[in-house]
Amino acid sequence: MAHKVTKIGVLTSGGDSPGMNAAIRAVVRTGLFHGLEVFGIMRGYQGMVEDDIIKMESRSVANIIQRGGTILKTARSKEFFEHEGRKKAYANLQKRGIDGLVIIGGDGSFRGAQKFSAEFDIPCVGLPGTIDKDMAGTDVTIGFDTAVNTAVQAIDKIRDTMDAHDRVFIVEVMGRDAGYIALHSGIATGAENILIPETKTDIEAIIHGLTEKEKRKKLVNLIVVAEGEEFGGGNEVAKVIRQRMPNADVRVTVLGHIQRGGAPTCEDRVVASHMGYYAVESLLLGRRNVMVGVINNKIHYTPLEKAVKEKHKIGTEWIKIQKILAS
Ligand code: ADP
Repeated sequence: MAHKVTKIGVLTSGGDSPGMNAAIRAVVRTGLFHGLEVFGIMRGYQGMVEDDIIKMESRSVANIIQRGGTILKTARSKEFFEHEGRKKAYANLQKRGIDGLVIIGGDGSFRGAQKFSAEFDIPCVGLPGTIDKDMAGTDVTIGFDTAVNTAVQAIDKIRDTMDAHDRVFIVEVMGRDAGYIALHSGIATGAENILIPETKTDIEAIIHGLTEKEKRKKLVNLIVVAEGEEFGGGNEVAKVIRQRMPNADVRVTVLGHIQRGGAPTCEDRVVASHMGYYAVESLLLGRRNVMVGVINNKIHYTPLEKAVKEKHKIGTEWIKIQKILAS
């Protein structure tokens, strides 16, 4: 029988994503509702190692649901990779009697959680906080919707100026080695080409299409490129096109970190609230070392081990649909 948790810690770790605050709020308030003591661990695992831990009350999370970033801050922790660092971290939890953890982060953070709970027998529940949306075991991640909407708004603006001149515009979006932000923002903005790491880029076909347009004197073309795409991003793709088409006016915009910031969308706030609530419920039910996800609008638990090993796969159907709609 799993022991009943009485004091829980919550932390945000790795890359930040909009909606993390909404998740923290849900964890804190659900915990307090059940009579638990709740602690906020600052700067991810680093705060756990350095004993930067604060008591959370209901008011500690007032007025944060609409804010981007994370009030608990986030960090990458070198010390937590080492057993010694994790030992220190555990001692700091023990000191306060913290007997359950909610980790809001990406797959790296879950790898850390898995190691930690295997060594020190502390139940950990993960919430997928990543704009990349590539976690297995969930249809949605906290932050993706905001990031992709930010990308869409920016690309819409770029399209206006692209149409005014005759230009090839390349927009690089984030996503690390996943193409979700590129695919979704590209579809939503009617991009002619979308280059993602999950599929092989047929650069010859792209150049052929652009050359045909150039001949017709209508060289307006939007290419959305994922940062992890095989050529190495938007600037690299531009280099190839410029070499082959010296007369083309090719402009590159790298959207960068604006995609991580800003007020979370309604969708991200709701997803984060839903997952945050179930993170605490699942700890109370004795679940351990699982990630809380949502599949077909229902809460779904995936062992952390599986969540970090597998990636959410982009449906190939979407790639076909995009090609037809942009032709
Ligand atoms: P994300 O969670 O966004 O993927 P990272 O990959 O940077 O971010 O991981 C966040 C932190 O999780 C790391 O800085 C480290 O402290 C911890 N971590 C990641 N992988 C491991 C691991 N294999 N063992 C122990 N800790 C890890």
